[in-house]
Amino acid sequence: MQNETLRPETTPAGLAEFRPVIDPSAQSHPEGTLVDKYGRRITYVRLSITDRCDFRCTYCMAEEMNFVPHSEVMSLEECLQVATVFVGLGVSKLRITGGEPLVRKNAMWLIERLGALPGLDNLVMTSNGSQLDRFAQPLREAGVKRLNISLDTLKADRFKKITRIGELKKVLRGIDAARAAGFTRTKLNTVMMRGTNDDEFADLVQFALDNALDLSFIEEMPLGEIHGRNTTYISSEETRDRLAQRFELIPSTENSGGPARYWRIPGSESRIGFISPHSHNFCDTCNRVRITAKGELYPCLGQNDAINLLQVLRADSSEESLRQAIVDSMGIKPFGHDFTQQMDAPQVVRFMSMTGG
Ligand code: SAM
Ligand code: SF4
Repeated sequence: MQNETLRPETTPAGLAEFRPVIDPSAQSHPEGTLVDKYGRRITYVRLSITDRCDFRCTYCMAEEMNFVPHSEVMSLEECLQVATVFVGLGVSKLRITGGEPLVRKNAMWLIERLGALPGLDNLVMTSNGSQLDRFAQPLREAGVKRLNISLDTLKADRFKKITRIGELKKVLRGIDAARAAGFTRTKLNTVMMRGTNDDEFADLVQFALDNALDLSFIEEMPLGEIHGRNTTYISSEETRDRLAQRFELIPSTENSGGPARYWRIPGSESRIGFISPHSHNFCDTCNRVRITAKGELYPCLGQNDAINLLQVLRADSSEESLRQAIVDSMGIKPFGHDFTQQMDAPQVVRFMSMTGG
């Protein structure tokens, strides 16, 4: 979407004049500019634009969270600068995430500009769905291609328990709004938790089939200091076995470029995916890095090494310094995470809401 289509009320004061400088030579980057030391090409960035959220999901956040002070969070212009440099380095897919990205004030200002960024072919978002009844249409108009929406249960009281403060009906309205806005291949994300939602997996699959949605089941990861994960962990394999009692699951060779492995159900277009960081490590094909709301570049979700891009940006706002820091980060991308199923001790001290899922 071009600038003239920006609604004035969503344009923060002082931001409208900012234009990223795109170096044309950087856009025609040589093949494999961002290649890590294991030869993996990085073409996908997950950008967290806030660590704040209107839910407090038990697997993602502590009940009392200390959020990052606003002064330490990347401004929207800084987010755009970082994204622009990545795209110049050959990144073609960007996922906006959080926290809940749609609670970031003026998020549309950024999203409209990202949607117009030459070379960024695939702008997508992960959301909890709570704000989509307002934002689905503007997101679509801004060029967001696909949405992932988290949904762990179809029961309102259970939803409240899992999210602590969320309302299921808002999310269901959001899913409807996404469809009405013309989004297709919307994917639900379901974190599998024994004793919490494992009796609903088949119903969630049926919901996906009935609403022409894809669905990915996610094995819970040990991120942040949250106790009790050992007892709730449930593997993709176990879930698949249970689903097979109700559905015919045909393994699919389809690959969305991510860690999910997909199954199809005859007679439906929906894909049922499994993201299995424990039981099926997918690090060898990793093509992504993550940027936190504080501007830290984490080359791996499951490790603690990071490079602080915001520090670089605020010390010297030149695009060249930022580009160099990003290129240098390839040197610290580890081969992979080493999540084990000993989940009670956090293997990574950051919460998922901080790194961005
Ligand atoms: N608020 C948005 C949402 O919930 O979709 C985007 C951010 S959220 C951190 C991104 C994804 O991470 C969600 O699908 C959520 O279920 C998942 N997630 C959060 N904590 C997790 C954990 N410990 N293990 C596995 N997935 C997790
Ligand atoms: Fe918020 Fe998403 Fe984390 Fe739930 S999973 S607390 S919705 S950031």
